[in-house]
Formats: sequence, structure tokens, C-alpha cells
Amino acid sequence: MIIVPEAKIGNLIGRDESYKAVEQVFAAMASGDAYNFPVIREAIGHEDALYGFKGGFDKVGQSLGLKAGGYWPHNFEKRDMINHQSTVFLFDPDTGKARAMVGGNLLTALRTAAASSVSINHLARKDAKVIGMVGAGHQATFQLRAALEQRSFEKVIGWNLHPEMLPNLAKVAEEAGLPFEAVELSGLRDADVIVTITSSFEPSLMSEHVSDGTHVACMGTDTIGKQEVEAALITRATVFTDEVAQAVTLGESQHAISQGVKNQSDIHQIGAVINGTHSGRTSDDELTLFDGTGVGLQDLAVASAVVDLAVAAGVAIEVDF
Ligand code: NAD
Repeated sequence: MIIVPEAKIGNLIGRDESYKAVEQVFAAMASGDAYNFPVIREAIGHEDALYGFKGGFDKVGQSLGLKAGGYWPHNFEKRDMINHQSTVFLFDPDTGKARAMVGGNLLTALRTAAASSVSINHLARKDAKVIGMVGAGHQATFQLRAALEQRSFEKVIGWNLHPEMLPNLAKVAEEAGLPFEAVELSGLRDADVIVTITSSFEPSLMSEHVSDGTHVACMGTDTIGKQEVEAALITRATVFTDEVAQAVTLGESQHAISQGVKNQSDIHQIGAVINGTHSGRTSDDELTLFDGTGVGLQDLAVASAVVDLAVAAGVAIEVDF
């Protein structure tokens, strides 16, 4: 069995490899060659932790396995460790033998940023110049770095409930040589692409804050009850997602579906756009929205890529298991 420790991941995989792995697995999901297993997520009654498993099988990429982990809210204050903790386990699809154990913390951020990037690449207007961010926490910096590579953006604007966190975005913009401006939510009307990545349970971004022709990637809502954008925005947009079943139950679309203002049949897999079986954006005025719920197959895809890269670089730790 191969082990790739968390500390080694950053030197092995970057945004390009993560993008390719996630785009490939979204395509495989839409063509029926990859599927996710039902998600388990439990409050374990210890340390207020939420723990669970996300797994699946991708016949094209030959990745089988699961990500185990969750959220330990007191890690940072008590132990100076990050609150999200996860590990990916891969199995040989021919034999069932354990193939690899891979640190999943950085990979989670990379695969989540890759998902919104895939949506921007396939759905945003080619002439997009202004990117707007809603959220300025840990994931937001990964989201912004990856998104900036998808179009020739000229400016970053951002809003966050906690404005003291906005320098996190300004720093990424500065690294990319772009100006950053903190705006009110109404200022996001100037954005051609908007990424939302907060842990909110109430909508911040209203339909009136978004101009026609924008592409919105909603990346924060991955749990029942969370919400970042007004249901009216979902109603107004052409909606794409990683997995429809997750979008309508625990993704951003859950509210519009439960309020009866969007039909499940009007939510499309992003993989269909990648495969060319859905035309995606059809006009410059169309508002497109990606509901990125986060699926186990994304984790397996980037973990498989890391294992291959670790073997190629001669840094994979092999144990007899
Ligand atoms: P973080 O704690 O570092 O940042 C949280 C962000 O949410 C901050 O910008 C904060 O100001 C904002 N926020 C908090 N409460 C808010 C409220 N009530 N209204 C509006 N904004 C609020 O968290 P993070 O690691 O950046 O994760 C952000 C979200 O992304 C979490 O909800 C996490 O579960 C989700 N996530 C989704 C995926 C996916 O695949 N879709 C993957 C990883 C994380």
C-alpha cells in the first residue's frame, strides 16, 4: 500500500492537475461511467464533531474508495490544528486490495476550487473581466486563485459578512497583479463571475445583486439548511451542478426546490456540458449558476492523481499491508 502524507501533498499536486482530474470525473459522472455512493455524516457526540464518509467508483479513472473525515470545531482553539480533517483511502478496483492512503485536507481545498474553475471555464462569458467574491475564509483564497486562471480578469471585488477577513482576498489579488475593491452586495452587479464560499445559513446574495450574463458559482452550501443565495436567483438562472441528487437535497438548490420555484428537471449536470451533450451558456445575457455541492468522486480523482505523481517522483511511501 502507498501512503502519501498530508505534508507532502503541496509539493506534488497543483491547480492544473486538480482541474484535469475534476473535469474528467465530472464528465464520467454525466456519461454514467462514475457514481457516488450515499453519503454518511454523523454527529458523533464527542468534541462536537461531525464525521462521515463520501465514496464512489469511477470506471474511466479506475478510482475506487472513500474520503473519511469531517469537522472538529475546537481543533484550532485547543490544538492549533485545522478544524476540517480528512483522509482518502483508495482500493484496487480489480481486487479490492487497499491501494493508498492519502492526506485529504489540502486536496479538499484543491478539488473544491477546481470544481468552480471547471464551471467558470465552461459557463462564464469569454470576455469576463470582473470577478466578485462572497466569502473570505480558508476556501475563498483557493477559489479565487483557481478562478483567476480561467479568464483574463482585470479586477477582483469582494464582500464578506466579516469585513476584517477581506485582506485574505486582497492578498490573492495582489499576488496576481490585480486591483481589489471591497464592495457592498449591490456592488457585485459589476461582476461577470461571482463565487460564493461561506458557511452561511441565511442568503446574502440576492437576485437583485446579480446582473444578467453573470456566471455564479455557489460553493459554500454542502449541508441541509445552509444557504448563500436567494432562491429567486436559482429560479432566474440556468442551473448546473456536480450531482443533481445532492444539489436538490443539500446543495444551494435545496431551497428553491423545497419552495417549488425550480424543477429538479431544470438542473443539469456540468459533466454534460463538458461532454458536449448540453450546450451550456447559449447567450451573453444568460445567467448561469453552478451549484457545487462537493462529491466523493472529486476527492478520489485528485487523490489518485497524487498517488501517480508521488510514484513518478519517487516519494511514495510503500508499506507491506
Ligand atoms: P471559513 O470558516 O474559513 O470561512 C467561513 C466564511 O463564511 C467566512 O468568509 C465568513 O465570514 C463567512 N460567514 C460565516 N458566517 C456567515 C454568515 N452567517 N453569513 C455570511 N457569511 C458568513 O470556512 P471555509 O473553510 O472557507 O469554508 C466555507 C464553506 O465552504 C463552509 O460552509 C464549508 O462547509 C464549505 N465547503 C464546501 C465544499 C464543497 O465541495 N462545496 C468543500 C469544502 C468546504
